[in-house]
Amino acid sequence: MDRPTRIAILSEHASPIVALGGADAGGQNVYVSELSRHLARRGYAIDVYTRHEDPGTPEIVDLEPGVRVVHLKAGPVKPHPKDELWPFMPAFRNSLLRFMERDETHYDLIHSNFWMSGWVAAELRRRSGTPVVHIFHAMGKTKRRHQQRVDTSPGNRIKTELEVIAGVDTIIAQCPNERTELIDDYGADPAKIALIPSAVNTSIFHPVARAEARQKVGLEASKKVIVYVGRLLPRKDIRNIVRALALLVRQSESREDAPLLMVVGGESEQPDPTATYEIDELQKLASELGVIDHVLFTGKRQPELLRYYYSAADVAVTTPWYEPFGLTPLEAMACGRPVIGSAVGGITFTIKDGETGLLVPPRDPEALAARLQRLLGQPDLRRRMGLAARKRVEREFSWPIVALRTGALYDKTLAEHMVETVSIETLPVAFMPGVTDNLSPGGYDIGAR
Ligand code: UDP
Repeated sequence: MDRPTRIAILSEHASPIVALGGADAGGQNVYVSELSRHLARRGYAIDVYTRHEDPGTPEIVDLEPGVRVVHLKAGPVKPHPKDELWPFMPAFRNSLLRFMERDETHYDLIHSNFWMSGWVAAELRRRSGTPVVHIFHAMGKTKRRHQQRVDTSPGNRIKTELEVIAGVDTIIAQCPNERTELIDDYGADPAKIALIPSAVNTSIFHPVARAEARQKVGLEASKKVIVYVGRLLPRKDIRNIVRALALLVRQSESREDAPLLMVVGGESEQPDPTATYEIDELQKLASELGVIDHVLFTGKRQPELLRYYYSAADVAVTTPWYEPFGLTPLEAMACGRPVIGSAVGGITFTIKDGETGLLVPPRDPEALAARLQRLLGQPDLRRRMGLAARKRVEREFSWPIVALRTGALYDKTLAEHMVETVSIETLPVAFMPGVTDNLSPGGYDIGAR
C-alpha cells in the first residue's frame, strides 16, 4: 500500500491548540488547526511544528488521527510576544532537525506559515531540497505602511520576506489584494503564487435564532445589538466603532432605542482592562464620548460559543485599518448576519457590498454610523443580506474546499519539483504534463528520505 504524503506544517507562534482571542492567537491558529485536520481527513499525514510555550503541554499532542502537534524548544518555554521571536528561529530550525532525526521522520513537503517559519522552511529546502509551500498571513510592508512607528516587527522582517519569496516553491495568497502586494511590493513571480482563500467551519458557525442566542449570552430581546469579535488591537480600530456608536446614540430618540455594542475578545475570559490594554483604551474613549453604558465587553470566547454572540447581534462590524484576510467577517456571515467591514485587504473580497453586507472606508466613523443606521432600521434588508451571506460562505469558503485546493497545490508543487529533480524518463505516467489534475492526494514518494 502507498504510504500517505507526509507534510510538515511550520507555525512558530500560532499553535492549533491554544485558546483564541488574545493578542497573538487569532486567524493563523484557526487556519493551521482547520487545514491540518481537513488535510488529514483527505489522507495526508500531518505534523504541525510550533514553539513550546507551556511547560504543562507534552512535546507531542495528537490533535486527531493523522495530525500530531510537535512542540519545539526555541527560546523560553513560556508565552513570548510574536514580534520578539525572531532571534529564536535558528533554535527552532535546529530543534526541528533534531526531532526529525530522533523520530526518523522525513517529509515530502513543508508548508510554512508567517515569515519566520518561512525562513526556517527556506533553510530546510536549501539543505535537503524538500519543496516548500508558503503562506505569509500578513506582509511586513503592508504592516509598516499602516502602522509606521508603532509597527513592532523586527527590522529584518521585510528583507527576510524577500528571501522567503525567492527560496520557496509556491506561495499561497489568501485574497487578490495579497497577490497584488506580493507582486507589486515584493516583485514576486506571479507564476509562483496560488490564490486560495481561507474559510470558516460551517458546522461550528451556523445561524441560531436571535431570541435563543440572546438568552444564551444574556442580552435583552428588544435591544439593537452590534457585535465586534476578534483580537483587541489598535489596528482592528474598535475605537472607530465606538465613535460611530456615539454618533448613533446622539441620534437616538431614547436611551432604550440606542444600540448596544458588544465587544468579544481580549486576553482573558473576563473583560479585564489591566490584562488587555485595548479594553482600557476603549473604556476611556467610551466614557469620554458618554457611551460607556452602551458598550459591553465580554472577554474572549472559544469558537463553540461564538455563534451565539454573532447570532445575538443584528449586525457584525469590523473596521480595521488593514486586514490581510479576516476570518471574523466570514464567521458572522456563516451565522447569517450582515457584516459592515472596512474596504481593505481580504474584506473587500469576502463581503459582497450591498449583497451580504456593506463596505465602508476605514477610519471614518460618520460613514460607519450612516451604514449602521441604515441596517439597524431595516430588518428585511438585514434578513436578506444574512441569508445571502450564509449562502456565499457555503459556496465559497468552507474548509473541505480549502483542503481540496491546498492538496491540489501540494500535488502540483511536488510534480514540478520532481520534474526539476528527476530525469523525465523516470517519471511515472501520472506525473506527465496534463494528467496531474487527476491525481488523488497521497501516494507520493519523491525520495525525501
Ligand atoms: N477569536 C476567538 N475568540 C475570541 C476572539 C477571536 O475564537 O474571543 C477568533 C475568531 O473567531 C477568528 C480569529 O480569532 O477565528 C481571528 O481571526 P481573524 O482572521 O479575524 O483576525 P486575525 O486574528 O488573523 O488578525
